[in-house]
Amino acid sequence: MPLEAPGTVTLVGAGPGDPELLTLKAIKAIASATLLMVDDLVNDAVLGYASPQARIVHVGKRGGCISTPQSFIERLMIMAARQGETVVRLKGGDPFIFGRGGEEVEYLRAAGITVRIVNGITAALAAASSLETPLTHRDRAHGVVFVTGHAKPGAANTHWAALAACAHEAQLTLVIYMGVTHITTIEQGLLQGLPAHTPAAIVEHASLPQQRQTRCLLGNLAQTLQMQGLGSPSILVVGDVLQGMAQWHENASAGHQLYAQR
Ligand code: SAH
Repeated sequence: MPLEAPGTVTLVGAGPGDPELLTLKAIKAIASATLLMVDDLVNDAVLGYASPQARIVHVGKRGGCISTPQSFIERLMIMAARQGETVVRLKGGDPFIFGRGGEEVEYLRAAGITVRIVNGITAALAAASSLETPLTHRDRAHGVVFVTGHAKPGAANTHWAALAACAHEAQLTLVIYMGVTHITTIEQGLLQGLPAHTPAAIVEHASLPQQRQTRCLLGNLAQTLQMQGLGSPSILVVGDVLQGMAQWHENASAGHQLYAQR
């Protein structure tokens, strides 16, 4: 039996960018799609696995840019599935880590559409590999929190001070997605519960050839991002687990040294 029966929608994680980080299951799903709806953080190289007959629709929507309205994307998926299409919704990273995968599944299920999920490697994990540091460690981090720096418009903002206090008490690594725009607020909030000398890192375009990364301290996180001209998409990592990085001390003492991984 093929991975998708006609009339289904599969949310497929395209990973952080490097097409070699796609799962085999993702490749099979892409190959069997008759309609692909592609988010803008998805590397176009993965579309090379699509059938030449498949229709490809780019529905990217970056914060602050002109975008395809979410309601249109959801309606299009439902319409296509009802017409018997094998729809693949390609999302950056993992479909269930931010990126509104959860909302789409609820909407599709409410419309009676069969939905499947194929995991992808989320950006936090690619950033950790880029930094050559784990996100958990028996001596330095008992867990990790994935948190958004950009709440839904109108929704309550993340309580950064409470999160920092919790991370401090429980020895947790913080990984912040979509944190670039509000980095100053994030830094100020976190400083209410974590020491300014807590190690931090920023990874832009993790896993891609243009990847850039830098290490710093929580107390100069925003300044470092600005000075290095780093932007979106970036992952921010905050926590003592970064102390274990071979080059961390070296780079931190040399200032905010920025270097490309490759
Ligand atoms: N579902 C995705 C996250 C979507 S939210 C995942 O699992 O990775 C979009 C945010 O993810 C970006 O603003 C950025 O913070 C992060 N991101 C996605 N790809 C990235 C990459 N290659 N490098 C750094 N951050 C990335």
